[in-house]
Amino acid sequence: MRLSTRISSVGESTTIAITAQARKMQSQGLDVVSFAAGEPDFETPAFIKDAAKAALDAGDTKYTPRSGEKLRQAISAKLASENKLAYPPERIIVTFGGKHALYAAFQCLVNPGDKVLIPAPYWVSYTEMVKLAGGEPVIVKASSEQGFKITPQQVLEAASTGAKILVMNSPSNPTSVTYSPDELAAIAQAVLKTNLIVFSDEIYEKLIYGDTKFVSFAALDPALMDRTVTFNGLAKTFSMPGWRIGWAAGPGDIITAMRNLLSHETTNPVSFAQAGALAAYTDPRSAQTIESMRVEFEKRGRHMAQRLSAMPGVTCVRPTGAFYCFPNVSAHYGRSIGQTAVTNSTTFAKAALNEARVALVPGVEFGDDDCVRLTFATSLQQIDKGLDALEKMLK
Ligand code: PLP
Repeated sequence: MRLSTRISSVGESTTIAITAQARKMQSQGLDVVSFAAGEPDFETPAFIKDAAKAALDAGDTKYTPRSGEKLRQAISAKLASENKLAYPPERIIVTFGGKHALYAAFQCLVNPGDKVLIPAPYWVSYTEMVKLAGGEPVIVKASSEQGFKITPQQVLEAASTGAKILVMNSPSNPTSVTYSPDELAAIAQAVLKTNLIVFSDEIYEKLIYGDTKFVSFAALDPALMDRTVTFNGLAKTFSMPGWRIGWAAGPGDIITAMRNLLSHETTNPVSFAQAGALAAYTDPRSAQTIESMRVEFEKRGRHMAQRLSAMPGVTCVRPTGAFYCFPNVSAHYGRSIGQTAVTNSTTFAKAALNEARVALVPGVEFGDDDCVRLTFATSLQQIDKGLDALEKMLK
């Protein structure tokens, strides 16, 4: 075989593939509402763009030493003030998006056959990244009855298989549930009874709704600092998905290993994108910008969840973070919708695209075939248009 066995086990990210399919249909003149892509619909704030433009004009176009010192200092200050985490800049690495930070960390920690615990429903890329590192994803199922959250008992049982890493993602993609500080503290205490290293993906930390409180995993107990890697990025918080800036903070040996890997892989994140990221973390206008986007997402999420819950055969948990609804649509399995026999989340998504011209992502891709994922990172008008069509289809 021409391709490596490693890469042959991995397909294209379904979210990206469905988004591309919806865009293609739109370019053919078809009126498709896309709830597929997990990216904010807002423009990147002007002051961030201006900082990147100024950096370009000032000749900031050369290799930067690793990731720039100033940006790592700004992230270090953010972690201290907002997350109660003391990471000096040397223990922070800036990467091409949060995805890249996670990928690099799996490459640095996973040996062939190592087990990695991934609570399901999970973000599609975790399992694939583990496989690409030669590891074995071990799924820890969190059903909708348990609020899509794993329990400390499940952590202890799963760790007894000799697993090396536990991936936590709160608020979660795809369920949009957020662990409360108490729930997370209970998970942390279970982790401390094991040898697990925790990858805490906190990319949705600023998108929190109602009276939900966000807490960083590593801040829950001083003993967690040496065995947690915290991941984050600017894509969701500052509406900067295309800029590809993310980062990780963690124990010195892990960050040094990631730095060594990246020195052969990417050298440094894009110089002028780093200047934009620096403005995002240091400009006083950021707080207001983030808050106005958060308020808008909260409104849309409440609306989408209410409308989905009112549809026949659909149950939907109200999002407490991120920007997704993950409704259970399994009551419709066994029906024919238009030309499509609906038997699972994939055929449900196919029917939605063909019959209602609505693009959504099958839950099976996230480890739960009873559900589908819709993002509410789109205007209320588009939400209503897509949900009207979906409702008509289901009736
Ligand atoms: N982690 C989660 C849970 C995500 O949903 C995403 C993006 O969809 C990422 C990480 C990576 O984001 P980025 O690479 O755009 O920073």
